[in-house]
Amino acid sequence: SLQKEDSATKNAKGFKGHDMLSPFTTGWQSTNLDPLLIERSEGPYVYDSNGRKYLDALAGLWCTALGGSEPRLIAAATAQLNTLPFYHSFWNHASKPSLDLAKELLNTFTATKMGKVFFTSSGSEANDTQVKLVWYYNNALGRPNKKKFIALEKSYHGTTFISASLSGLPVLHQGFDLPSPFVFHTDCPHYWRFHLPGETEEEFSTRLANNLEKLILKQGPETIAAFIAEPLMGAGGVIPPPTTYYEKIQAILKKYDILFIADEVICAFGRLGAMFGCDKYGIKPDLVSIAKAFSSGYMPIGAVLVSPEISEVIHSHSNKLGSFAHGFTFSGHPVSCAVALEVLKIYRERNIIEQVQSLSPRFQDGIRAFSDSPIIGEIRGTGLLIGIEFTDNKSPNDSFPPEWGVGAYFGAECKKHGMIVRSAGNIIVLSPPLIISPEEVEKIISICEKALKATE
Ligand code: PLP
Repeated sequence: SLQKEDSATKNAKGFKGHDMLSPFTTGWQSTNLDPLLIERSEGPYVYDSNGRKYLDALAGLWCTALGGSEPRLIAAATAQLNTLPFYHSFWNHASKPSLDLAKELLNTFTATKMGKVFFTSSGSEANDTQVKLVWYYNNALGRPNKKKFIALEKSYHGTTFISASLSGLPVLHQGFDLPSPFVFHTDCPHYWRFHLPGETEEEFSTRLANNLEKLILKQGPETIAAFIAEPLMGAGGVIPPPTTYYEKIQAILKKYDILFIADEVICAFGRLGAMFGCDKYGIKPDLVSIAKAFSSGYMPIGAVLVSPEISEVIHSHSNKLGSFAHGFTFSGHPVSCAVALEVLKIYRERNIIEQVQSLSPRFQDGIRAFSDSPIIGEIRGTGLLIGIEFTDNKSPNDSFPPEWGVGAYFGAECKKHGMIVRSAGNIIVLSPPLIISPEEVEKIISICEKALKATE
């Protein structure tokens, strides 16, 4: 009813939609509504075209970790634009910011030793690149059948052909003839929703690891190239891994010589109170994807970190296999790299990890205090990331029908009170800029309280 009301108001004003084919937008929104025009940002706030101020509790799309208007990033971009706005990095060319950034990134990732960095413009391109790197690697090693991927149900890895195939959300497949047949999905590690009666978290992890092993054996270990997972699942509903999950999964992967790709596009750079999700959960990946907070959202950039073994095989076999003919015009874009380099410096100088660690107890406790609400099933997350799931009877089996729009209603209430959150079906995501103040944490909690009362 909220949607219809909005459409009716906008139609009465004679609005006929706009000219942009909007990402992730359903028909009623793009044809009937004018978008919320965000014009400017300052710190953790954004301002719309009517001058209304919103606390951006989603950090753009989980990316503007340093908020808007950070002068050092503006200066870094401007200086690079003045010096060299663009040069490519194909055929052994490079710009200085790209080389400096690769070095800095390798120093920043310490969960395990990484060898090289491949730059992309987005998280989807990073995950596409992962698949091609792994295929090339196995071709180089003379294992042409080791090509299949296993991903998690409810995972989100992007929307290009390959990354959408890896994603385990049916909405990304329907209407697009996806997923591709080389991708297999295994259990989503969401304990609250999927555990059996009486099963402990650890037993749940063991059962899921056993199921993974069964899938590997059914397909044939010699055909499975890699497993991809977000350390903490983001867009699928903010799902932290159950205890001992990654320990058990990694043991299975090792047993069958299957690579681990950590999709850190949301988790990286402090969001969870550790520099990377891999640090937080003891993951030792072979390959890592990053994007989003890498540039704090100021410029499009993503990257793949490649283990020394894989990069060595790729380099040493590229003469035999033919050139490693993969790359994007904007791989290593100088302005994006200059900005990301400054972002990494700021994260370090301002102790962003300690900052998240000091804010997160109040942020987590303040939101979790709503757990008793009759319409909330589970509140989960860590660091400055939290998900609120609405259900009837407090049970994962009694989801509110999507057409009730419970999450959308809560989101609209937050907007009324000057805060932007993400509402995805019955799930609300809060992922504010990492530079928020303790007062802004209180503001998030108090707006959520008002929105919850209205939604109940
Ligand atoms: N991987 C994860 C875990 C993500 O959350 C996203 C985007 O939300 C992507 C990949 C895709 O990144 P992009 O939208 O930059 O292509």
